[in-house]
Amino acid sequence: MSTQMKSAALAIVRRLNEHGFQAYLVGGCVRDEMLGRTVKDYDIATSARPEQVQALFERTVPTGLQHGTVTVVVNRVPYEVTTFRREGDYEGFRRPAEVEYIDSLLEDLKRRDFTMNAMALNAEGGLVDPFGGMTDMNERLLRCVGAAEERFREDALRMLRCLRFASEYGLRIEEKTWAALQACVGLLQHIAMERCRAELERMLGGADPNRALELLAGSSALRHTKTDIELAKLDGIPSESWPDLLAIPSADERLVYLYLRLGLEASAITEDLKRLTFSNAQQDAASRTAGAHRELSASAAGGASGGNAREAWIRALLRYGADALLRLRRLYALDGHRLLGLRSLEIMDEARAAGEAALDAWILSGPAWLEAVPAGSLKELQVSGQDLVRHLGDKPGPWTGLLLSRLLEETALGRLSNDRDTLLTAAMELYETVQKKEHA
Ligand code: ATP
Ligand code: MG
Repeated sequence: MSTQMKSAALAIVRRLNEHGFQAYLVGGCVRDEMLGRTVKDYDIATSARPEQVQALFERTVPTGLQHGTVTVVVNRVPYEVTTFRREGDYEGFRRPAEVEYIDSLLEDLKRRDFTMNAMALNAEGGLVDPFGGMTDMNERLLRCVGAAEERFREDALRMLRCLRFASEYGLRIEEKTWAALQACVGLLQHIAMERCRAELERMLGGADPNRALELLAGSSALRHTKTDIELAKLDGIPSESWPDLLAIPSADERLVYLYLRLGLEASAITEDLKRLTFSNAQQDAASRTAGAHRELSASAAGGASGGNAREAWIRALLRYGADALLRLRRLYALDGHRLLGLRSLEIMDEARAAGEAALDAWILSGPAWLEAVPAGSLKELQVSGQDLVRHLGDKPGPWTGLLLSRLLEETALGRLSNDRDTLLTAAMELYETVQKKEHA
């Protein structure tokens, strides 16, 4: 796929050349190509104006005309072709909406953020590298193009990109670039939370999330976001106490782990994720995982062992869902002792032993317990609210829901079998207690 994409990108470059325009592969694809990494997408820079690009290719989409970008589509793969440009004055510490078209590749490369992102390749494979990007990459150095402080003042987002590239590519941040970042980090308050979130997600989902955390803490970048976030407190956790975060399968799950380490409750996590513009689905999954954790921690602290560990697990299943429990189990397998407070010196030996027994049971038997549950939700229960109303001859009311969840709990815990007759008989017996509760 990648070689096909590269030939298609080079064919676009050649076609532009044949019509008298300068054209190059630029930016991330050149960097990744030179490092032998898989290239995600090939971007092209050209002296041709957008309308000239549109005229030359069969399928184009005007994806970013105001920035000079036309997307050329070949075999359903998009290639961004952008006219050489200079960026007008920067306003509010962000990149400007207005751009000025120019005829010089060099000027176009100059506006780019880091030396390794400011290289170009021509159709013959000749490298244009005016700022020493290759040397920096060989020395594993990340360096701003030009005066670092000026570049961060122009666009504060570059500071987060700096931390991301350093962690993703395993680079040291060059001294002046790092000093400038420390001097300018306060300007991050001008960057939309959405863009911070996107960078944070990529750092956590990238090649070295532990290094990303170290850099975030070392720069105190999270202390300077537009909206204050609880996540900023991560810098109070010593970096050597982080386990290998790559052992956690996704960025979302790594983030939940960080919040659990901060000891935040489900509602506080939801609020923080909202401030960071994470999606409702992400908020919901994180909050259910944290809710399940809170319940299981309480049960571990109360000495859940043997049968109690299973009960706590099944009750958590009914409240928070199987996906939350399976996520939590992975986090427990990685760092359960710490998350459940079993490392604390204050805890009594007996309580520690009971907590450890529960932890072991959740890790070893948790998934099998979930599999074996005859009904994990009301949908799976063999009676409905209507059945109960008909069978007990009472009007529908709050008792119906209460009774259903009692039946579900008894069934899930294996005390009732999930068939209609058993459930309806049990309903008769439970009806009175539920009614009392309703009137209490
Ligand atoms: P990746 O796609 O892996 O994030 P990339 O380098 O391709 O890496 P993009 O955001 O796709 O990053 O941007 C493409 C190129 O545009 C960059 O390589 C860089 O040259 C330039 N660029 C992007 N964002 C900025 C910025 N904020 N300031 C200056 N140049 C930038
Ligand atoms: Mg890119």
